[in-house]
Amino acid sequence: MSNYTELSTLGEFGLIDHLTKTIRLQNPSTLKGIGDDAAVLDYGNKKILVSTDMLIQGIHFDLTYTPLKHLGYKSVAVNASDIYAMNGIPKQITLSLAVSNHFSVEGLEEFYAGLYLACEKYGIDLVGGDTTSSKTGMCISITVLGEADEQDIVYRNTAKENQLICVSGDLGAAYMGLQLLEREKLVFQGDENAQPDFAGYEYILERQLKPEARKDIVQQFKEKNILPTAMIDISDGLASEIMHICKDSGIGCNIYEEKIPIDYQTFKMAEELNMNATVCALSGGEDYELLFTAPLEHYDLLTAMPGISVIGHTCKASEGCYMTTRDGNTFELKAQGWQNFSSTTAAGESENKKAKEDR
Ligand code: ADP
Ligand code: MG
Repeated sequence: MSNYTELSTLGEFGLIDHLTKTIRLQNPSTLKGIGDDAAVLDYGNKKILVSTDMLIQGIHFDLTYTPLKHLGYKSVAVNASDIYAMNGIPKQITLSLAVSNHFSVEGLEEFYAGLYLACEKYGIDLVGGDTTSSKTGMCISITVLGEADEQDIVYRNTAKENQLICVSGDLGAAYMGLQLLEREKLVFQGDENAQPDFAGYEYILERQLKPEARKDIVQQFKEKNILPTAMIDISDGLASEIMHICKDSGIGCNIYEEKIPIDYQTFKMAEELNMNATVCALSGGEDYELLFTAPLEHYDLLTAMPGISVIGHTCKASEGCYMTTRDGNTFELKAQGWQNFSSTTAAGESENKKAKEDR
């Protein structure tokens, strides 16, 4: 018997809590440390937002169907998303890259072309990084710095009871895009001459390969003078993110299945694969939409905003976190997230599942 505890016993969030629970912040300039989409630092009038994300080949992306240019774009977009989730504006990134000698200069040029395109789109400067070699695959680590006025910053833990729960865009599409890519990859592996069939599924593919961060939503909040009471970006699926807001804010929630925005292509792909589209929205991940709470008085303003859906309301913590299904049943939400360290996947489950981890 080993004396060591397997990572799978804690899961991703448990592990972070375990390793960081004794941290004592030493600097008054650290307004918010671990525990939100970005840290908040106090350097004068503007507050600085900092967030970092790592993408590993074989875990987060599969180069057999991910063009390097798209990967560069996505690497920036997912980082920018964490700053928008604080209601801030991303300004700079640093990029640390590990690559093996299997990569060519041209390949990395493609990666950078995508990266620069996203930087231009979101108004971000690449200001530094590090380059090193890797014996296995490619590893991308990006740190993003953003800014916000103190009164504009929106945290995860400040939602109140009896408020609206809203999401931007639609959910589950990126996950369905991934399932489609994985299916076509298997077909291709079975028959080298097979051509992938993506007709009618362009939208879900784009959601997987070239996601956007919701800069436009944060801009609209500013224009319309809306300040969400709490906000998070949806990287791990709606259920997991709602649970973060509820747990951290000490409240419960009730959302309605019929209100969850799901695109037609997501429904169609789910049906084709015998999956439930709602489950994909709840636990799929990689949507990079914004989930936020707002006072009831904002109902008219929010429903008038294009691309915003009101999906439910918050309630007392004692009432729990529930979804009312289309047929009127209630179902307790569980923060499934993606268990990075689950022992079944470590033992080598399908490529499908592996590629979905740590989203
Ligand atoms: P997100 O899904 O928004 O990227 P995560 O779930 O990865 O956020 O992280 C939650 C919080 O824990 C963040 O504040 C993040 O900075 C922090 N965090 C994650 N991993 C570590 C780590 N290994 N050490 C310290 N802090 C961490
Ligand atoms: Mg986040």
